[in-house]
Amino acid sequence: MSFHVLIAGGGIGGLCLAQGLRRAGISCAVYEAAPGLVRAGYRLHMNAAGGNALRQCLPENLFELYMQTSRKNPRREQLTIVDHHGTELGARPHIGPPNDPVRPHTAVNRRTLRQIMCQGLDDVLHFGHTVAGYRLTADGVRLELADGTYADGDVLVAADGIHSVIRAGLLPEVEVVDTGMRGMYSLAPVDDELLARIPETLLDGFVLANGPDGTMLSFGLFDPRRPIDEAVAELAPGAAIDPVRPYMMVNSGAGLPDAELFSSTPQRLHELMRDGVRDWAPGIRALIDRVDPASIFPNSIRHLRPAEPWEPSRVTLIGDAIHAMPPTFGAGANSALRDAGALATQLAAAAGGKDLLTAIGDYETGMRAEIFPILRASADPRAFDHDFVPEDVPVANR
Ligand SMILES: Cc1cc2nc3c(=O)[nH]c(=O)nc-3n(C[C@H](O)[C@H](O)[C@H](O)COP(=O)(O)OP(=O)(O)OC[C@H]3O[C@@H](n4cnc5c(N)ncnc54)[C@H](O)[C@@H]3O)c2cc1C
Repeated sequence: MSFHVLIAGGGIGGLCLAQGLRRAGISCAVYEAAPGLVRAGYRLHMNAAGGNALRQCLPENLFELYMQTSRKNPRREQLTIVDHHGTELGARPHIGPPNDPVRPHTAVNRRTLRQIMCQGLDDVLHFGHTVAGYRLTADGVRLELADGTYADGDVLVAADGIHSVIRAGLLPEVEVVDTGMRGMYSLAPVDDELLARIPETLLDGFVLANGPDGTMLSFGLFDPRRPIDEAVAELAPGAAIDPVRPYMMVNSGAGLPDAELFSSTPQRLHELMRDGVRDWAPGIRALIDRVDPASIFPNSIRHLRPAEPWEPSRVTLIGDAIHAMPPTFGAGANSALRDAGALATQLAAAAGGKDLLTAIGDYETGMRAEIFPILRASADPRAFDHDFVPEDVPVANR
């Protein structure tokens, strides 16, 4: 059976799905509202759920490019919790399936991963196309675009993030929860001299730091295994993938009212970050001084409540569109990638003769069973505790 898949949203999940469908020989088109790859964050922690999906969906050379442009193996691949001196208070294993001990999935620069996933998709990627809704037709589904045009297909996949307009039509009861937590997301370029000055605990996989007055910061180093331009030249010559210098991603809690937080200049936000670490270790203060003000942007932590099971149809959902979660376990993008791989597998089975709605239903049942426990754990108030290891979620390196 041959069919055409419409994908709403060209973020982490949508791009991976397009790659997976292409690899399976299934026709698809991606409709992305943004005019191109705009800034959407910095570093992503990767686990084997996301990494295995990339291995499945990407052509071999692009998967190898992802591996070579991933972060070098960190000192310790775990979540470490430290105080304001960088002294370890506790540690927790990352969640996810078992990770490779030699060349594990570590972390990527988000834009690099998206640029890698765009390769070879020029003919199916439609940037600057905002999705407005959909309707089921006699023998398929029609995707309606905000400019009044539409596209017809056999299956529609909502990959349009937490505020998905497709989910609003399919599962209008699903609630977006605002945790009230606000953060400032930034990066600081690093070099050997700065890295030698900061506490070595900050070089672990991912680090949460608790200050004396309740200030909370998190840190994640990104130093690629191989210079990105060198890896691109060998593995995907000519590909439009930017070089990236090593940096430390720094997220800082923000205690300002929204109106002030979201209207402050980057310089003011940088001042707030520096004030927040006045009494911290000199190496951490030096790192915060080095934060690039132009990189700082405020963000709100929101998530979805898990939906009750629904009847499968020609419209399905992946990633944040169905299970947006707080970033406490670094699992949102990994889950979106995992969904893309699992859905590509089921749609390939349908192309091979499996009943289409059974295939979509099997994908949805598996996704609810595997990812909803991670969503619940990520939204649990204990998710910041080093000894909170949820029972129904796999742990990578116990
Ligand atoms: C601060 C922070 C840190 C994080 N760190 C990690 C981490 O370390 N590891 C991890 O696994 N996850 C992390 N996450 C979560 C991760 O970013 C998301 O879970 C992931 O991006 C979800 O992928 P997605 O494809 O479902 O959605 P997105 O990547 O959000 O993509 C959705 C796309 O849909 C587009 N879109 C939206 N509406 C429309 C429309 N109407 N029409 C057309 N297009 C539309 C958007 O422009 C966007 O490109 C973090 C999140 C935050 C906020």
